[in-house]
Amino acid sequence: MRPREGFASFWMSTMGPDCDTAPQKRRPLAALTREALAGELKGAGFAPYRARQVMHWFYPKGAGDFAAMKNIPAGLVGYLDSHYVCRSSHMVAAHDSGDGATKIQIALADGETAEAVLMEAGGHVTLCLSCQVGCPLGCLFCATGQGGYARDMDAHEIVEQALHAQSLLARESRVSNVVFMGMGEPCLNLEAVLAASEILNAPWAFHIGARKIAISTLGDPRCIESIARFRLPVTLAVSLHSAHAELRARLVPGAPATPQETVEAAWRYFKSTRREVTYEYVLLAGVNDSTGDAEALARLLRGKRAFVNVIPYNQVEGLPFERPSSHKVAGFVRSLEARGVKASARRSLGRGVHAACGQLRLARPAGRLK
Ligand code: SAH
Ligand code: SF4
Repeated sequence: MRPREGFASFWMSTMGPDCDTAPQKRRPLAALTREALAGELKGAGFAPYRARQVMHWFYPKGAGDFAAMKNIPAGLVGYLDSHYVCRSSHMVAAHDSGDGATKIQIALADGETAEAVLMEAGGHVTLCLSCQVGCPLGCLFCATGQGGYARDMDAHEIVEQALHAQSLLARESRVSNVVFMGMGEPCLNLEAVLAASEILNAPWAFHIGARKIAISTLGDPRCIESIARFRLPVTLAVSLHSAHAELRARLVPGAPATPQETVEAAWRYFKSTRREVTYEYVLLAGVNDSTGDAEALARLLRGKRAFVNVIPYNQVEGLPFERPSSHKVAGFVRSLEARGVKASARRSLGRGVHAACGQLRLARPAGRLK
């Protein structure tokens, strides 16, 4: 991570929002596309090209209030100020783990908290986004799933996570990849996830390539079909964790389909988009990490264009699982490769600040950050 000068792990709860927190009637600017803003400005008697200027200040330049938009005339600044807000949420904390990961805590307008994680590795800046406050699906090994569910996030709240993250980066550095692997299940809030992805991809906003936007999901087949119909060929990541129907149903009680049905749906995604599907497999010592488990997975994925991301379990306090040894993890990956399945083990960044996969927790109302 290359932070702005002077940036370190710090609490910002006393600093307040970047600009006003949304009062009732003013809408978050991140809820609008540039075209929608142009239409609204035109309706109010302003030249539509002003939308281009406003969005340029708002996204690439990261402006936190309308007065900072230097080439915007005072009359329009006044109009913008009375109709929109630059941020509906504010960043309350950023914890630097020291290994390239920074966990960002964001207070939403209603007092709920969302978390995002910024990771720098191999010259890429990857942002892990949340799409729900908590998650209702209750996977046994996941801190988010064990912490409960409060609500879905709006598209603008998802986009604002990226605005907050971008504000922590050095000026020349930009978010290059986005993964929906924070809190929540994208398929339970797909409309907002896809609307946010449009803005993350838009050249006038974050300009992140569609292939560099990954949606990670338990893989409801109907939802996979909807993602396949989406205008952008995003990367699909399916959380599988076991090829055995019975074991997967135990580990992932909210699983919407069997492993077989899930892989078939992902295969249809590949056939219609030509995008290779990634499978995520959280490796739990003594639970799903045997050679037999690798064989069953290889059989299930045989002939499918797939890549398996093996994620060694990240410890979650109070849960009864263990992380397998690195020797065991490497052996599991080798077993898959020996059977013709491409695979690698994911390096876990951010464990020191509970920012690694599965370690994001729902802050319940007692812990609300106002
Ligand atoms: N709900 C979506 C996306 C968020 S979870 C999904 O499940 O795919 C993102 C990834 O983190 C998933 O692959 C999930 O299985 C993984 N994960 C959850 N808990 C974990 C843990 N304790 N250790 C390692 N990975 C975990
Ligand atoms: Fe929800 Fe994904 Fe965690 Fe399962 S792993 S509880 S689907 S966030």
